[in-house]
Amino acid sequence: MRKIVVVGGGAAGMMAAIKAAERGNRVILIEKNEKLGKKLFITGKGRCNVTTNKDIEDIIKHIPGNSSFMYSSLYTFTNQDLMKMIEDKGVKLKVERGDRVFPESDKSSDIIKCFEKYLKENNVEILLNTAVKDILTEDRKVIGVELDVNRSIKCDAVILATGGMSYPLTGSTGDGYEFLRRLGHTIMPIKPALVPLVAKEKWIKELMGLSLKNVELTVKSNNKTIYNDFGEMLFTHFGISGPMVLSASRKVSDILPKEVEIFIDLKPALDYNELDKRILKDFEKFKNKHFKNALDELLPSKLIPVVVDLSEISPEKPVNSISKEERSKLVRLLKEFKVTVIGTRPIEEAIITRGGVNVKEINPSTMESKIIKDLYVVGELLDVDAETGGFNLQIAFSTGYCAGISC
Ligand SMILES: Cc1cc2nc3c(=O)[nH]c(=O)nc-3n(C[C@H](O)[C@H](O)[C@H](O)COP(=O)(O)OP(=O)(O)OC[C@H]3O[C@@H](n4cnc5c(N)ncnc54)[C@H](O)[C@@H]3O)c2cc1C
Repeated sequence: MRKIVVVGGGAAGMMAAIKAAERGNRVILIEKNEKLGKKLFITGKGRCNVTTNKDIEDIIKHIPGNSSFMYSSLYTFTNQDLMKMIEDKGVKLKVERGDRVFPESDKSSDIIKCFEKYLKENNVEILLNTAVKDILTEDRKVIGVELDVNRSIKCDAVILATGGMSYPLTGSTGDGYEFLRRLGHTIMPIKPALVPLVAKEKWIKELMGLSLKNVELTVKSNNKTIYNDFGEMLFTHFGISGPMVLSASRKVSDILPKEVEIFIDLKPALDYNELDKRILKDFEKFKNKHFKNALDELLPSKLIPVVVDLSEISPEKPVNSISKEERSKLVRLLKEFKVTVIGTRPIEEAIITRGGVNVKEINPSTMESKIIKDLYVVGELLDVDAETGGFNLQIAFSTGYCAGISC
């Protein structure tokens, strides 16, 4: 019987521990928090978008960072395998818009409980409130782990599943990167990904809390469109956030620190001409009103003072005296509402970490290090990152699975 230590009780670590134990190994799962799955608990706003219902080829397309590394593990342990494993423990799942899979209960705690059941059934020993300080090796082979309480555990293999660096209060403080660096691995630059964006415009604060649905977002650099999406977004006290913005953040951060222009089409269902007609209709209806009071049916109330200001049309101007030129400028403003991005929020506020251990140094079928024998690296520690939609957790589960069955 081999003795396996799994470091980190998140999605990847729990999966790896279960699979290693199912194969008859003695498995010790070490977690520095007082409980397992703290990050898992907050995923999907507490609902846990546990995976996606898309097929594997489609999943690969939603992994902009090192997708080719993921082929083997995603085919070895698919999203359908994960859904079956969860449902086998009585947790019903449902598929929502965009093929996103959630527990029917909308409770991430049900997913955690499901994994805890598997861990218990397979007699995985769990050490909570215990932080690993280092990985012990001899002749480039794992021999154990050093703990924070002046003791070490000898073992035959270590599966490192300490996560990335985002939301560090959940326990993911980047410890694994340090262990791996010390062992000779290359850590690709760590950056925030799926992260809110900071805007230059002063008026952005006035829009704080405004959420927009069914708008179109276009990211431009040197007048060339580099990203385009349709969906939901949110204004915050520093800039913009929400699903569409988080997805765009990867392309945006590739251009930063150069300023990046984001254009929001507030009325994507209407072309410029149709929108002009619509505005004209509103102006006829409110012909005795001032400009600032004539946009109530067109725009959310928070947006009106900002649009009025940016339009350079006097707020007190009676709408029946607004010229065609002024109207066409207003149409352009609404179709190309510009936000200038000057930065991202820090990694603490990012959904995931981009960068991590160089995937060229890891076997993509087994997750074993090519530098240290019997060391396996899984989950967000790897330099792999995906879009929102359940892909990142599937990456954690599939890589965890492969290490668990291989170690
Ligand atoms: C707010 C938020 C919402 C998200 N929502 C979704 C979603 O709905 N769907 C999705 O697919 N992805 C989502 N993600 C991303 C997803 O949560 C991560 O990609 C995934 O949790 C990574 O799993 P992991 O096991 O690699 O790392 P983690 O889940 O971070 O687990 C790592 C564990 O290791 C422990 N650890 C660290 N260092 C040590 C040490 N030295 N000793 C012992 N233990 C240690 C940590 O305490 C932690 O429990 C979300 C992320 C955030 C922040």
